[in-house]
Amino acid sequence: MVRFIRKGNLKLKCKECHKSHSFEGRDLVFDPYGKTEKEDGTERKYLCTNDFFCSCDTKLKCEILITEYPEGKIADINYETKNAEVTEKCSISIISL
Ligand SMILES: [Zn+2]
Repeated sequence: MVRFIRKGNLKLKCKECHKSHSFEGRDLVFDPYGKTEKEDGTERKYLCTNDFFCSCDTKLKCEILITEYPEGKIADINYETKNAEVTEKCSISIISL
């Protein structure tokens, strides 16, 4: 069992109207997103999906995918966006419970 410590803010900019949107890192929710048994243990993935409408009616989407491998270590953090640009990333660290 792990928990993610999120610090700072996630900032997204609308690609249509360039408006900035800010989210508290600690409000981001990561849900388990599958696991794979590998040589050195279990690789687990966690996904945070954030989608909302900008004031210009464009639907913005930001997905953050964390790969935990081996257990208790963050191997990768991948950001994927739609109609948005990530201008600031929150810092994410992991603690094992
Ligand atoms: Zn916009």
